[in-house]
Amino acid sequence: MNTKPYQRVVLLGVDGAGRFFRQANTPNLDQIFASGATNYDVLTSEPTISAECWGSMLLGVSPKVHKLTNSIVDERRYDINSKYPSAFRIIRENDPDAVLASFCNWNPINHGIVECNLDVYQDTADDDELTDKICAYLEENTPTFLFVQFDDVDGAGHGHGYGTAEHLRQIETTDGYIRRIFDVYEKRGLLDTTLFMVTADHGGFGHSHGGSSDDEKYVMFAARGKTVVPGTIGDMEIRDCPAIILHALGYARPATWTGRIPANLFEGVAGEERPVDGHGSAQTSGIADADKCNTEALCACVGRERILSYMPMDDYIADAVGKKGTASHGKLYFVDGGYVGGGMKFEDGYISASDYQMSETGFSVCFWMKNNGTLSGGASFFGFANTDAGCTLTYEGDTFCFALGEEKISFAVDAAEGEWKHYMLVLDAMAREVRLVCDFESIQTKKLPDTYTFAGFTSMNVAQNAAGDNAVHLSCVLDEFLVLDGALTSDDMEHIAAYYRNGVSK
Ligand SMILES: [Zn+2]
Repeated sequence: MNTKPYQRVVLLGVDGAGRFFRQANTPNLDQIFASGATNYDVLTSEPTISAECWGSMLLGVSPKVHKLTNSIVDERRYDINSKYPSAFRIIRENDPDAVLASFCNWNPINHGIVECNLDVYQDTADDDELTDKICAYLEENTPTFLFVQFDDVDGAGHGHGYGTAEHLRQIETTDGYIRRIFDVYEKRGLLDTTLFMVTADHGGFGHSHGGSSDDEKYVMFAARGKTVVPGTIGDMEIRDCPAIILHALGYARPATWTGRIPANLFEGVAGEERPVDGHGSAQTSGIADADKCNTEALCACVGRERILSYMPMDDYIADAVGKKGTASHGKLYFVDGGYVGGGMKFEDGYISASDYQMSETGFSVCFWMKNNGTLSGGASFFGFANTDAGCTLTYEGDTFCFALGEEKISFAVDAAEGEWKHYMLVLDAMAREVRLVCDFESIQTKKLPDTYTFAGFTSMNVAQNAAGDNAVHLSCVLDEFLVLDGALTSDDMEHIAAYYRNGVSK
């Protein structure tokens, strides 16, 4: 039996409003969601462009997966057999009698994202007229799912600047439109059985959007309904919306969706780990020859048996050599333009790998890093742990700090903005040394503390310390994360350098 918390769902989206709602005077939203749940840090998709973000909001996956762009949704109908069905399609497949409605000021959504064969009632108009049409429709119809896209706020942002008085004033006008729609539900006595939600596709910065600044990529999401937990919703992304809609209506979501129900949204529903999903970020293409650089070539270069784990960071987080279990935590993105193929960008997310069996000779960690200008002091590149002690490599501005328990070893670095740099951290337990090698050339060697005894590590986090509790997030792009047993020799380093420079093994 399906459990059906709600008989109907309303999702009102305000194009270009981001999280500027909280700077605007929105008495209606405040009142509607006073007993509801909100989150002003919902991560939308990247690039922060309408088709990409509305696509994620209705299709449950990121743009790198659904591949929609503004011109595609404008010119083509959405594939009615796509592996990534819209929430509309899943509702229709479960309920032939469902009443479905989509009112979009920006009409391409109605044919470029919503499938055309589902008998969805559709209309388009400017926001004020659209509101008239919605209210008239709701007098006569009771949609199972009502989706609305308002567009004038984005217009005000492009015209006057996002966050300006004019932009905020348009949000305030939209607050009134939302009230009118809400009032119909209230007047008709439908609120008890309705999940009512408001969100945005993206924000903006200056006069545009598409980038990854906080004002572009974070949006508000608000929900009210009888099972909604009042307060602040947990970690959420815009691609979670379809999973939320289906949960409310009691239907299973497609296995291909990567959105999940956030924590602390519905009573009795725990948040689930969200699978990593590609983001199509516009960056310059990779540097090394991705065709020649591959796992087999790397194994040939350094020896497969020495590799403890290798994460190419191309569209998946698994260990490409297949020895270690890996898991993702929090927000991670794959981005185009890594050093080889794609790279990985971290929000509050990190990767964990377990079951290492290290020898007592030491270990080596190699990775490419691009400081995109937002790298913060105190962020950890990685942390290793075993039952009694750990170690962490942390960025401290012009130094890397390698902490071994209470001991700290500092290395001077020049992590110049916008450039790919390769790092190798080598703990040579036999020579009792720690070495940091930058770009295969500059080698700094430090003595291990006299009191330190290396006993091998059993687990690791990438982009976090070993405990996973560093509140400073590693906001840079990493690629080609390689962990080896034992200390790399200078010959090994030459082979690795040649591999990345030439895309060939020795
Ligand atoms: Zn938009």
